[in-house]
Amino acid sequence: MSESAPELTSPPWHEPLWAHMAQAIETDRVAHGLLVCGPPGVGKRRFASRVVAALLCRERVPSGDGCGQCPTCRQRIADTHPDISRLVPEERGKLIKVEQVRSFSQRLQLTPQYSTGRIGWIEPAEDLSASAANSLLKTLEEPPPDCHIVLVTDRVSALMATVRSRSQLWRVPPPDPDTAQRWLDGNGIDTSQLDADSLRAPFAAVERGDRDYPALVENWDADLANAIRGREDAANVSERLSAPPRDLFLDWLYRRAGAMLALALEAAETGMDPAETTPERRDLPESLARIAIRLDPVVFQPWCARVADTARLARTNADWQLVVESLFLSLKSCVKRRRTP
Ligand SMILES: [Zn+2]
Repeated sequence: MSESAPELTSPPWHEPLWAHMAQAIETDRVAHGLLVCGPPGVGKRRFASRVVAALLCRERVPSGDGCGQCPTCRQRIADTHPDISRLVPEERGKLIKVEQVRSFSQRLQLTPQYSTGRIGWIEPAEDLSASAANSLLKTLEEPPPDCHIVLVTDRVSALMATVRSRSQLWRVPPPDPDTAQRWLDGNGIDTSQLDADSLRAPFAAVERGDRDYPALVENWDADLANAIRGREDAANVSERLSAPPRDLFLDWLYRRAGAMLALALEAAETGMDPAETTPERRDLPESLARIAIRLDPVVFQPWCARVADTARLARTNADWQLVVESLFLSLKSCVKRRRTP
């Protein structure tokens, strides 16, 4: 599964379509063949990945999305999920061959590892040769139980009518330029060179973008650790943390606060000794995990609630740097050490 940019926030122009899809998934009425189409750059792959994530997860979150945490979600994100089979051209620019379709169809017949069933991913679907498309028809018509075949295409008109008619069409619309600009800005992607046409294909800008997300997160983690330890004052930290990309920052902060609180609770319940334990967590860097096991969860919990309020203030005209500063000022009083056993 190609998760081209898993850390991006959800594109708002997908939401109406997603609401329909989430409802269909929730009520178990998703067609077996899903044809995700739309113009280039609108985020079709992103939408299709979201569908697959939701179909394979058994602990979906209220938005209908996959949780991202359970074992199946982790396997999908790591690209090692055993129930996902991909059908793509062997080389870029070449057609998908009929032999490839045969082995793809056979894989879909195998018993899935998980009860959520199998996923077949075909991309780009317009690259199916005529014989390959013909060979796929039987599988599309009578797919194995609990199997979903997701076809992604920029050019639905280039697909054989027989393939189209056996799949349910999900057309991802282009955004209006203002919406796209806000979303790109929020994700830290430079829009200064983009005209209205380019803004209607924002994912093209994402692919070109030179944003270095891991480096951003590393800096934020260091700032958060320093702020909690009182090694730097709130004003300095806030000046850096209030710089764009705001949406990504909030997403990161929300996840860190939640993970730290979970670890603080676990440490308090199990009586972990901070002097002896260095917990290894997938969702926290070591520096923050070391801090989290020392936190008193009762005192830290209200700060986590303030993080959620801060996310709401991001949508208002409030002075963002002041909002962040006040959040980090209040962090000091929240960071009390729990009494160790
Ligand atoms: Zn999950």
